[in-house]
Amino acid sequence: STNARIVILGGGAAGMAMANRLSRRLDGARISLVEPREIHHYQPGWTLVASGVWNPDKTMRPNANFVPAGVDWVRQPAVGIDAEQRRVSLADASVLEYDYLVVATGLQLNYHLIDGMSPDLVGSHGIGSVYASIEGATRTRDAIDAWIATGGGKGLFTAAPTPVKCAGAPLKMTFTTLSRLEDTGHRDDFQVDFMAPGDALFSQPWVNDFVKQRFDDQGVNRRHHYRLTAIDPGARQAEFAFVGPDSEFTSHHELREAEFSQEGERTVIADYDFIHVVPPMSAPDFVRESDLIAREGPFRGEWLDVDIHTMQHNRYPEVFGIGDVIGAPINKTAASVKAQAPVVEANLLAQMQEQPLPARHNGYTSCPMITGIGKALLVEFGYDNNLDFLPSFPFIDPRDESWVAWVMKDRMLQPAYYAVLEGQA
Ligand code: FAD
Repeated sequence: STNARIVILGGGAAGMAMANRLSRRLDGARISLVEPREIHHYQPGWTLVASGVWNPDKTMRPNANFVPAGVDWVRQPAVGIDAEQRRVSLADASVLEYDYLVVATGLQLNYHLIDGMSPDLVGSHGIGSVYASIEGATRTRDAIDAWIATGGGKGLFTAAPTPVKCAGAPLKMTFTTLSRLEDTGHRDDFQVDFMAPGDALFSQPWVNDFVKQRFDDQGVNRRHHYRLTAIDPGARQAEFAFVGPDSEFTSHHELREAEFSQEGERTVIADYDFIHVVPPMSAPDFVRESDLIAREGPFRGEWLDVDIHTMQHNRYPEVFGIGDVIGAPINKTAASVKAQAPVVEANLLAQMQEQPLPARHNGYTSCPMITGIGKALLVEFGYDNNLDFLPSFPFIDPRDESWVAWVMKDRMLQPAYYAVLEGQA
C-alpha cells in the first residue's frame, strides 16, 4: 500500500496502458491521468482508412471505456512540467504535484515546418497526409480518389527527415495507392515519385532492400536526398531541399527530369497532381521546453531523455517515459508500447521501493508492412537489428509477403491493441 501521487501525462496507447497497469498494482496510490480528449483513436487503422479499406468509425472509441475506476481523469492538456519542483501545470492554470511522473504524451506533428502547409489543407488541392488525424486520413482517401478519377498525372510521396511514428506508414500509403492505380488498368498514365530525405527508406536493411526493389519493379521513381520544405497548394507545386551530394535515381522508367526546375543550387520545384505529406515530428513543445528534454546526443532538444532500456529518465529518477515521446533509435509503434508497458510498470514499482530496476526493454517493435491492398510483410525487430528476434509468428517467414500478414493488420491487431490499453497484454 502506498499514498504516492502518480501523474500520467497523456492517455493514448501508452498512458492508458500505464493507468490500467498501475491502478491494478498499487493499492492506495493517487493516480491522475491527464488526457484532454474524450475519444481514443486507433491510429494504426488510419492507413486502412486512407486506403479506402476501413470506415473511419471503426477507429474510434470513448476514452471512458478504458479509464480504470479509481484513476482521476483530468480532462485538459498539460502545458508545462517543472521537474525540479515535481509539478505539472495544466491549461486552466492549476497545478498537479507528483511523486512519480509517467510521460506518455505521444509526439507532435510539425506541419508548420513546411512553408505553406497546414493540416487543414489535407483533402484539398491534391494534398493527403495519413498522419494528420482521423479526419485527415479520411480526406486523404478522398484526395487519392479524386486524383485517380482524373485518369492520370503525377503523385509525389514524401518522407520526413526526423523519426516518425510507424515509419512504415509513408511506404504503406505508396503501396496501397499503387494497388489502386494498377486496378485502373492504365497504370502507366500515372507517374509516382517517392521523395526520400536520405539513402534509406526504412531502418531495417532487409526491409529497405525489399521496398526499394519493389518500388523499382512497380515503376516508382525513387529520388533520394530530397526534403520537403514548402508547398504551394494553389499552384500544386512542392519545394524540396536537395540535402545530399548525389542523387540516387534508380528506375527503369524514364525520369522526367524536365519537370524539375532548379532554383538556385539546392532547391527543386516539383509539380504534382497529388502529394502525400509526411511532417517532421518531435516531442510536444511543452515537453521540449521542460527540464525533461534530451540535452545532448541525437535526440537533443527534440525527444524525452530516457534510458532506452529501463525507460527511466536519465536525470530525474522519479520520471519514466513511454511511447512515441521518448528518444530512441527505433520504436514509435503501438507494438513497442506493448513491449514497454510491463517494463515501465516493473521499474516504476521498483523505484518506488528504492530497489534496483529489474526490467529492460529490448527495443521490440513491429509493423505489418502493407505492400499492396490484400498483402503485407510481417516486420519485427529490436535494438540489435536482428531479424531472428523473438518472432511472434515463427511459422510465417517475414520475408514472404502474405495474405496472412494482411489479415493480421486488417482483423487481428485491433483487439490486441485494445488489450494493451486495458493493461492486459
Ligand atoms: P498516442 O497514442 O498518440 O497518445 C498520446 C496521447 O497524449 C493522446 O491521447 C493525446 O491526446 C495526449 N496528449 C498530447 N498532448 C497532451 C498534453 N499536452 N497533455 C495531456 N495529454 C496530451 N503502430 C503499430 O504498432 N502498428 C501500426 O501498424 C501502426 N500504424 C500507424 C499508422 C499511422 C498512420 C499512425 C499515425 C500511427 C501508427 N502506429 C502504428 C503508431 C501508434 O499509433 C503509436 O506508436 C502509438 O499510438 C503510440 O502511443 P502513445 O501513447 O505514445 O501516443
